[in-house]
Amino acid sequence: MKKIGLIGGMSFESSVHYYERINKQVNEKAGGLTSAEMLIYNVNFSEIRKLMLNNKWDEIGEELARIAKTLEKAGADYIAIATNTMHKLADHVQSKIEIPLIHIADCVADKCKKQNIKKVGLIGTKYTMVEDFLKKRLEDKGLEITTPRIENEIKEIDRIIFEELCKGTIKEKSKDYYIKIINKMVKENNIEGIIFGCTEIEMLIKKDELNIPVFDTTQCHIDALVDYCLEKK
Ligand code: GLU
Repeated sequence: MKKIGLIGGMSFESSVHYYERINKQVNEKAGGLTSAEMLIYNVNFSEIRKLMLNNKWDEIGEELARIAKTLEKAGADYIAIATNTMHKLADHVQSKIEIPLIHIADCVADKCKKQNIKKVGLIGTKYTMVEDFLKKRLEDKGLEITTPRIENEIKEIDRIIFEELCKGTIKEKSKDYYIKIINKMVKENNIEGIIFGCTEIEMLIKKDELNIPVFDTTQCHIDALVDYCLEKK
């Protein structure tokens, strides 16, 4: 079995799902009392968030690279960053370690391909929706990506993530808002599927509440990590 080095805490509300499901899925596949060999470095998200708001991405990059190196030295065979937004710094982190970083976008792109879905919507933090780091990686894998374009919508989707979901607050009103935005992308952009490009969105909307296939980055990432762990990848 290979050891996962997981960088978590962004937010802990979603990292807990990584911990629980990686263990459960490894156990289901390997049987008996098997659990996953995993090293977790849980950051203090409050400090990271301050740096984000002050646009100090270089400092976050250095911190994540330092953590990845620590996990590598402690024996991790590969690294996973349990958030989409921090993949803005994935190349930098990868450049500082010898072991592979399992990129969340690659995991979700593989699932879209398997279901033969090309035109997908992407919702997540404003960084993920507006910037190119995730979109470009998905497009390079052959997907056509649509993100919300109206500024107020981007702001509200982002606000719900940081002010509600990252604190474990689930509101019906926010769910309805997300569903409205997704349905608008179905109508106006003919998307065939939607990527939940933020690891907390799956806590808000269940797959059967939408009429199109859902590609949840949390679960796609977890599935790939389980395969790496059991050396199926
Ligand atoms: N967990 C979120 C994501 O998947 C947002 C938190 C963060 O900024 O890392 O993007």
